[in-house]
Amino acid sequence: MRELYTELHRHPELSSEEHATAGRIAEELERIGCTVHRVGDTGVVGVIENGTGPTVLARADIDALPVAEDTGLEYASEVPGVMHACGHDMHIVCLLGAAEQLAQARDAWSGTYIALFQPAEETAAGAKAMLDAGLSAVIPVPDVALAQHVMPTEVGTIGTTAGPVLSAGDSLKVTVHGRGAHGSMPHNSIDPVVLASSIVLRLQTIVSREARPGQFAVVTVGALNAGFKSNIIPDRAELLLNLRTYDTELRERIMATIERIVRGECEAAGSPREPEFEYYDQFPLTDNDAEVNEKVTRAFVDEFGEDRVYETDPYTASEDFSRIPDAFGIPYTYWTVGSVPSEKYRAAVEKGTVAADIPANHSPFFAPAIDPTLETGIRAHAVAALAYLRK
Ligand code: ZN
Ligand code: ZN
Repeated sequence: MRELYTELHRHPELSSEEHATAGRIAEELERIGCTVHRVGDTGVVGVIENGTGPTVLARADIDALPVAEDTGLEYASEVPGVMHACGHDMHIVCLLGAAEQLAQARDAWSGTYIALFQPAEETAAGAKAMLDAGLSAVIPVPDVALAQHVMPTEVGTIGTTAGPVLSAGDSLKVTVHGRGAHGSMPHNSIDPVVLASSIVLRLQTIVSREARPGQFAVVTVGALNAGFKSNIIPDRAELLLNLRTYDTELRERIMATIERIVRGECEAAGSPREPEFEYYDQFPLTDNDAEVNEKVTRAFVDEFGEDRVYETDPYTASEDFSRIPDAFGIPYTYWTVGSVPSEKYRAAVEKGTVAADIPANHSPFFAPAIDPTLETGIRAHAVAALAYLRK
């Protein structure tokens, strides 16, 4: 698995283009002795049927990012501008390793194990693509679903939590309309630059004034585009927004509030046309089931010891994993696996410089320490499944 990891790391593939990766995974699953199904263009599922008992689904994502690797690693990406910068290559080998362990220890457990390899997590498209391609027709309905993610935390440690562990994420394109004019004649215009600026400021009141203090919400305006020349007032402006929430009701309310503010500002400006709203890249909430989390956390403590398993704060990042268990109506849990050498991590914590000194996921410097991240991730997947499957 160590060799396969460096091989995958050298040859990353972008979301929905994971053809060679999927082929390599299918080969490994065959070797391990799984029944292999290809689901959609680049989704792969390996099933181990081993008598009566529960059915456990474990998922790994497999796509890379449009990032130019700058780690200087001997096994750095050989594909220009593409990098496994989120550690999904580690997820692949950890899940393959766990499937292999389970395949070799059939006497120890009873039930069905499903190792699911999902494309296009980074674009929020892959889980949906596998479901649309008929995932439910090729696998039995699972009783529980499991997933993990490597994080820039101390290597060898595992973070678990009940309830929201990753946020719901929504992107939104807002187009507002004005009336263009010569830059010297603002009285002939309805200036969309001023209108958009006013919207940006007013949007800041959503988190500060409308969300309950202490309730988590993010509203970021990541782009504001209007005009191209100093002496021309343009006729429209475009804003790209990103929202993050842990609460479905608050999420709906924020969306409604954004639309209300935009419409109100357009009205105040005398905008000649209704604004347009286009939602995209929408990630569901990842909301760990309390019972599943407790059972799996107990298995981790038994396996790794109490000092290596901690309760993690929820992350503000997002994932599309939960679409799969949600489609089957089954509970799930999602945990984190550390990947930064202990000394380096502890020194940064002590100095309070974790954010500055430890490259996080999506950074061109993100470089999980293979040992013991790989071993920890394999064992974590195996013992989490055995919490349900052990005889
Ligand atoms: Zn990512
Ligand atoms: Zn990721």
